[in-house]
Amino acid sequence: MNWLSNFVRPKIQALVRKREVPDNLWTKCPKCGQMIHHKEVKVRQYVCQHCDHHLRIGPDDRFPHLFDDGEFSTIELPEVAADPLKFRDEKRYIDRLKDSRGRTGQQDAVVVAHGKLGGHGAVIAVQNFAFMGGSLGQGAAEAIIAAAKLAVLQDVPLIIFSAAGGARMQEGILSLMQLPRTTIAVQMLQEAGQPYISVLTDPTTGGVTASYAMLGDVAISEPGALIGFAGPRVIENTIRERLPEGFQRAEYLLEHGMLDMVVHRHNLRETLIRVVELLANRPPSGEVIALPQPDLEIPLPRNVTFETEQRADPDGPGGTP
Ligand SMILES: [Zn+2]
Repeated sequence: MNWLSNFVRPKIQALVRKREVPDNLWTKCPKCGQMIHHKEVKVRQYVCQHCDHHLRIGPDDRFPHLFDDGEFSTIELPEVAADPLKFRDEKRYIDRLKDSRGRTGQQDAVVVAHGKLGGHGAVIAVQNFAFMGGSLGQGAAEAIIAAAKLAVLQDVPLIIFSAAGGARMQEGILSLMQLPRTTIAVQMLQEAGQPYISVLTDPTTGGVTASYAMLGDVAISEPGALIGFAGPRVIENTIRERLPEGFQRAEYLLEHGMLDMVVHRHNLRETLIRVVELLANRPPSGEVIALPQPDLEIPLPRNVTFETEQRADPDGPGGTP
């Protein structure tokens, strides 16, 4: 028995067992189901070569394709109280945070970077769906606020790539407070006369749609992105009606006037440069030459005379009553 179980069985198992492929070598396209090699998909900026589906990506895969020569600097973000409510569901919130921080190498869901975009300065914030569903808590909101402040300080446009399931429920009311806070943050850009461009990526829902994501001077989205407040399943269950085809998808929203553009990921950088150039308050490209002042002394016709009449103004200062 020993010989059979210790020697023969492992040999047979080794023959039968498939060679294990490391999980991270291949990615399965969630739309067409085709296997795509990690190297190829990375080069294609995580756009499926079979069906053109735009996979979800984080800041590490976005920033190098956006900034000039892939050069940018990320900024340090303000620290916030880690778990103010000591929240726990199946897992403690603090453990979920640790887990997401370990996997993404990020402090929270939003990362902020600045650099050059087509020669213009720009601040770009990217929300990572892989970090607790990109949810908007205090940490993510502080990042958005820091990005807006930096853009005002540098006098450059702000671009936010949003991707979120909504507010971070583990922070309760504190997460809802971030909606007005981030709204005021992007308003600062308006007051400073700098453009704020919102790029809505798959998926942008809940509190993020209800705040900064929908407030861009220009609203851009990637093809096929899910954008809405409540998800389609929730709406369908509430109104008990079937929703139209493509409901809450970027193309549907564009058709109904909620977006300005739906742009392929491969054309995003060029589009953003064009928009920034159109909106940025640039000095004139040529030298400004002052025009010679015209002679303002125009002689009056001879027969016109001015009568100076002193009238008593009862309300005026110094007038006689
Ligand atoms: Zn595909």
